[in-house]
Order: sequence, then structure tokens, then C-alpha cells
Amino acid sequence: MQIRSKILIIEDEPRISNFMTAVLSANGYDVITAYTGKEGCSMISSHCPDLVILDLGLPDMDGIEVIRSVRTWTSLPIIVVSARMHERDKVQVLDAEADDYITKPFGTAELLARIRTALRHTHSSALGSITPGGVFKVGELTVDYNKHWVLVKGENVHLTQNEFKIVGLLAKNAGKVLTYDSILKELWGPAAKGNNQVLRVHMANIRRKIEENPAEPRYVFTEVGVGYRMAEE
Ligand code: CA
Repeated sequence: MQIRSKILIIEDEPRISNFMTAVLSANGYDVITAYTGKEGCSMISSHCPDLVILDLGLPDMDGIEVIRSVRTWTSLPIIVVSARMHERDKVQVLDAEADDYITKPFGTAELLARIRTALRHTHSSALGSITPGGVFKVGELTVDYNKHWVLVKGENVHLTQNEFKIVGLLAKNAGKVLTYDSILKELWGPAAKGNNQVLRVHMANIRRKIEENPAEPRYVFTEVGVGYRMAEE
């Protein structure tokens, strides 16, 4: 028997909530719904869903507050769905430790893909789609963590230590956006905070080495004003 993932939708607009419920149910998920932040928080503790889809604009509280309160006790995946997504909002939700965000209006395929990514990351923890041999592959790009090298079309690409760290970190989180700050902190500690320029220079060099056309990347995508996302199969 297949175990169905349970998804909680916290969304106050019935039209959107009903649409998502229909799509997710048709795709084999069990769906439960809440219409306010307070109701949502209590359903997370009483129903233990596998994933939460959260609207930022709720009648009783801000979605960010919901994320912060939930994050004090659980790391379950949270995908934010919102119409008002300026760059700073995206950074704010990711820094509040939401797993991902989708901007309204969105398509069914995109919603399902983000859900699969978020669920996969919980099941395989930090290693994402990296195989037991320590290898990450997408398209013609291979990151080998044991040998500490990156291949494109089977050819070894010469990355600096820092470039390898960045590619390796993004690959471990393939499909997820990592904010500039979270990448900087992960690589160089809290002191590096705010120095996005360093990261942009590294990324330009990385793209020149791994992308066929750096202006139209296939592997590392820029989420403008937010951060970077590694492609996944
Ligand atoms: Ca709303």
C-alpha cells in the first residue's frame, strides 16, 4: 500500500484553496485546509501534515509569523504561495526558513514540481538528489563530492576551492532557492553577510566554466534579488 502524503493548505481565499485542493487530491495527496493562521498552526500540531502550503496574506496574522511560530518546533516543509512577492518578501520568507515560494498566479505543473522537491528534501535530508556514491547529476553536469571535481560532458572543469564550494552547496539543495546571505553564511561564516558582490563575481566565473551560454544558464538559475537555484532532473 502506498503511503499518501498529507498536505495542509492555509489559504483564506476559497477559490484558490478549492483549486489547490482539487489539483492535489487528483494527484494522490491527502489534503486538509485551514482559512486562518491560527487555525493553520493548530492543525499543524494536531494533524502532523507532511507539507504546508501557506498564503502570506491571512486575515488574522501575517504568514511570516506563521512560519516563525511553526519553525520553533518543527522543520516540516513549508511552501509559501503569495501574490505580493517583492524581492525582499522572497528573501524574508526564505530567511524565516520557508522551503520555497510560488508567486500567484501559478500553473498546476509548477505547484506539483515544487511540492515533489520539498517532500524529497525532507525524505533525504540535506543530501537532496545526491546518490550514495556522493555524485550529483543534472543534464550534462556532474558534481563528484568524493573526488572533489565537476564534470561537464565528461570533461573535468577546473573550479577554484570557493567555486566548488558554491556549486556543491547549490547541488545539495537542487531545486531550492538559496538566498545570497544563506550561501555566504554557509561558506564563509556570519562575517561574510551582505557582501553579495563577491558571490556575483564567483557566479560569473562558475557560469563561464560550466554553462554553454552563461547568459542563458541551464544549471544555475538566478532568482533576481533573492539568490540562486540549481536545476534538478
Ligand atoms: Ca490571502
